[in-house]
Amino acid sequence: MTQTGPVGSVFLETAEQRALRAAIAGLAGRHDRSADGLWAEELWAEAGQLGYLGVNLPEEFGGGGGGITELSIVLEELSAAGCPLLMLAVSPAICGTIISRFGTAEQKRRWLPGLADGTVRMAFGITEPDAGSNSHRITTTARRDGTGWVLTGRKVFVSGVDTADATLVVGRASGGTDGRLKPCLFIVEHDTPGFEYREVEIELSALERQFQLFLDDVRLPAEALVGNEVAGLPQLFAGLNPERVMMAAFAVGMGRRALNTAVEYSRTRQVWSVPIGAHQAIAHPLAQIHIELELAGLMMRKAAHLYDQQHDQAAAEAANIAKYAAAEAAVRAVDQAVQTLGGNGLTTEYGLAALLPLSRVTRIAPVSREMILNFVAHHTLGLPKSY
Ligand SMILES: Cc1cc2nc3c(=O)[nH]c(=O)nc-3n(C[C@H](O)[C@H](O)[C@H](O)COP(=O)(O)OP(=O)(O)OC[C@H]3O[C@@H](n4cnc5c(N)ncnc54)[C@H](O)[C@@H]3O)c2cc1C
Repeated sequence: MTQTGPVGSVFLETAEQRALRAAIAGLAGRHDRSADGLWAEELWAEAGQLGYLGVNLPEEFGGGGGGITELSIVLEELSAAGCPLLMLAVSPAICGTIISRFGTAEQKRRWLPGLADGTVRMAFGITEPDAGSNSHRITTTARRDGTGWVLTGRKVFVSGVDTADATLVVGRASGGTDGRLKPCLFIVEHDTPGFEYREVEIELSALERQFQLFLDDVRLPAEALVGNEVAGLPQLFAGLNPERVMMAAFAVGMGRRALNTAVEYSRTRQVWSVPIGAHQAIAHPLAQIHIELELAGLMMRKAAHLYDQQHDQAAAEAANIAKYAAAEAAVRAVDQAVQTLGGNGLTTEYGLAALLPLSRVTRIAPVSREMILNFVAHHTLGLPKSY
């Protein structure tokens, strides 16, 4: 049976990239997801050992020497197979990339090998209760203390803190209060005094949980700062743009999974004289979703390619557009798949209902649909701002 596969991969991808896709699909198939929650940890560990979690990281630190193109292939295929490891968008994609590009030799030596083989995990905290989409308003502040720093603030919705060894926290150096964010990035190891976290209860059957962070006078050594304290936004977006590409991959994979389930079901389910897939009210929405997923996948590849070629500015726009398109396609794919299966769309057996809230996450995080439309309106179209 024909499956909705990755977008035109024969024409757009190298033989190695296609082999990577096939290997990830095989890996995902080896893990029994019905057993218990342990499969996710086992999958993470095996993917790490096989080098898939660090495909984007430098070879000299144990990575695969590829880019976000390769890492997004890993996440798309895991997601298409029903096991989306969201922390791939955080640990190697944001944190690994920022440390690779801006870390000191010592920070690279200390963190990258573990991030590459998955034995070390790093969460990422930028969202704050009173800042949300407006990162310029964050108040988590670092003040100098001798040679080191003291970090104080609150973060919310930070994914995977419980399974991570450290969090890369976005703060601002004290003194910079002109309202424009000059972010400083600090690696906060979770055993540091003053660092605490509490779970945020979310109605989501995801593998990762979300947390609020409490940073109360957390004393950090000088080497906790990644990059330059005045380098500002480009340093931060060197991590956020890969995250957007990865969320597009997460969404495209989820959309493919939902679509394939619906297509397969509607070929055989028959309650009148023909299978339900023959009714255009069922067939056309599925065809539209296939088109939307193909287009979103193409944009995702463009964004990954631009980022890997270090065209950071062009990659920013493409990554935003890809994340928007992929999230919209995934939300529609999951909704239509549920409708296509009727009552079975909500049974545990078919696994679609659990994707309803998860697909909505891709519309909200890491940057909301509305903020992407703002970005395109202001940066691409040059329209005036309302805020
Ligand atoms: C499952 C999940 C995992 C997450 N993981 C992480 C993580 O690991 N690390 C992390 O730091 N954060 C994480 N987040 C946070 C996520 O990035 C934020 O939820 C997101 O950026 C939106 O911020 P907010 O929730 O504060 O919404 P708000 O900023 O309060 O926005 C609420 C609504 O208003 C809209 N809005 C706001 N401003 C404007 C405007 N100017 N114009 C038009 N509309 C506007 C928004 O689009 C949104 O629809 C996660 C969130 C979720 C749900």
